[in-house]
Amino acid sequence: MGSSLEQGKKGSRTAIINAQKVTITEKDEAHGLITARDFGGTKKWRTCYTSDGTGHSMLYAMDNKAHQDKVEIHERLEAMSLITDEGRCYGAVARNLMTGELVAYISKATTIATGGYGRIYSVSTNAIICQGTGQALALETGIATLGNMEAIQFHPTAIVPVGILTTEGCRGDGGLLLDKDGYRFMPDYEPDKKELASRDVVSRRMTEHIRKGKGVKSRYGDHLWLDITILGRAHIEKNLREVKEICENFLGIDPAVDWIPVRPTQHYSMGGIRTKYTGESQTLKGLYSCGEAACWDLHGFNRLGGNSVSETVVSGMLVAEYISDFCDSYDSSIHIHSSKIEIALKKEKDKLETLLTNKHGEDAYVLRRRMEEIMMDKVGIFRNGKDLQEAVDELEELYKRSKNIEVFRSKSRAANPALVNAYRTQKMLKIALTVALGALLRTESRGAHSREDFPERDDENWLNRTITSWPNEGQTMPSVSYEKIEIDTMELPPGFRGYGKDLTKHHPDTKVRQEKVDAITEKLQAEGANRFEIQHALMPYLEKLPKKYRGTNERLGENV
Ligand SMILES: Cc1cc2nc3c(=O)[nH]c(=O)nc-3n(C[C@H](O)[C@H](O)[C@H](O)COP(=O)(O)OP(=O)(O)OC[C@H]3O[C@@H](n4cnc5c(N)ncnc54)[C@H](O)[C@@H]3O)c2cc1C
Repeated sequence: MGSSLEQGKKGSRTAIINAQKVTITEKDEAHGLITARDFGGTKKWRTCYTSDGTGHSMLYAMDNKAHQDKVEIHERLEAMSLITDEGRCYGAVARNLMTGELVAYISKATTIATGGYGRIYSVSTNAIICQGTGQALALETGIATLGNMEAIQFHPTAIVPVGILTTEGCRGDGGLLLDKDGYRFMPDYEPDKKELASRDVVSRRMTEHIRKGKGVKSRYGDHLWLDITILGRAHIEKNLREVKEICENFLGIDPAVDWIPVRPTQHYSMGGIRTKYTGESQTLKGLYSCGEAACWDLHGFNRLGGNSVSETVVSGMLVAEYISDFCDSYDSSIHIHSSKIEIALKKEKDKLETLLTNKHGEDAYVLRRRMEEIMMDKVGIFRNGKDLQEAVDELEELYKRSKNIEVFRSKSRAANPALVNAYRTQKMLKIALTVALGALLRTESRGAHSREDFPERDDENWLNRTITSWPNEGQTMPSVSYEKIEIDTMELPPGFRGYGKDLTKHHPDTKVRQEKVDAITEKLQAEGANRFEIQHALMPYLEKLPKKYRGTNERLGENV
């Protein structure tokens, strides 16, 4: 929320909305509760925050709690593969990154919560560990499936050149996007939401504007400016202090005085391990996934700012409950012969040995760099059939070459970054192929997936989830199928909720369902039902929730 120094105290405060200073008066009953700020693509101020370090606050709270509850944590262990037998997951093989030792974990339930796969792109806001190895573990079982892998979000304001994010809170609080002439261009493209259109829209508009020659030239390519000077030093040092530090440390500028060079950059993976609502894989019993690693259906083909940490909290809470229930049930008992575990360990050991002893092989760094470039240039913000076909062909070639990787520099079996890069690159190439192939086959535009050659959203033919799998180790390309989406059980039938012209080819069932929804709502409202009862009648959800979470949230009111 835009504010001056008096934030934190009761009463009025100033905020910047659409480049104007306005005064906001908080209701007495809301004082002291979690506050919310404006974010892209939303009608209400609904994004809860702690300064511009919401994620860090959550991380530290979680870390403290884990220590407080004496949760056993095994550090520096990287999951390498899943142990499976006859459609059941029995745990994972992990590698100690310091000693190189391989360890087998045998478990009733195994959960993958390894985050997104942004690092298959050359520039990403993601942590460097977000390389998609978690999704690859699932894929490599040949049984578990991935969902909507081509749904990749770009964030408008990562700094140039390194790609570190400046939060959407910059624009939420009133920051502006300017071009090489210092001109505020977003109102021309999006007169209603301006800088606060959803991320995919702003990223595309920025790219369009740069393509028109309005970008600022730099040795790292063209960029635009983010101006938060308008918010004032006091606000920046309080509510955007991480942005200030990033600008000082990585750009050597003061954002209270200088404009920030920004460009759209890979940011979020909507796709992931396909799960049921319980978080369990649809096809591999005992395997669970949650958070950004999963395709749990909170997002679809787009993701609004703030919705991701909500997903980690909500899915973490629910999925953990389902996992506990599963582990307590008779159904979870496991019987696996120790020879099978030894085979799983040996398989990983042999793979590592091959990488270390290969002669005249491929350099993983070269393959990886090329993969990252292909993903950025040909499977990026705007996509088209020609580029995507080239991307798929070249990625397949790189994948074939990756089977013959040789670790050149150090042959150490213990702490060895070159070895780590080698086996991760093999996995990353598989993930890159699922993204590129999914994007090539999806001949429509939907959410963050924008096809220049198919600009319409096509609900008639494409209202489905993309499912990828790798059933046979010898394949050089993932298998792709599609999962139907049931309109008849939706509370909010699919429809155009973007800006500007509606280019959607609507599904015939949408209209039918909308009429049903309207009729049920009208009837229940007349009978005096509250909004939770109406919601449940439209889309029964209570039985799907663990009992202890079936209550309703307390609210002060709609707009407090
Ligand atoms: C810069 C930035 C800002 C963001 N800001 C917001 C925001 O304001 N609001 C919002 O809602 N969302 C935001 N997001 C998105 C959100 O932070 C992430 O989606 C969320 O943190 C994902 O949480 P996670 O627990 O699923 O995965 P992560 O937090 O990515 O954690 C994954 C963990 O898995 C570990 N791991 C990975 N591979 C392996 C392996 N093979 N073996 C063992 N461990 C492994 C990693 O070390 C890591 O600890 C932001 C993201 C970024 C990058």
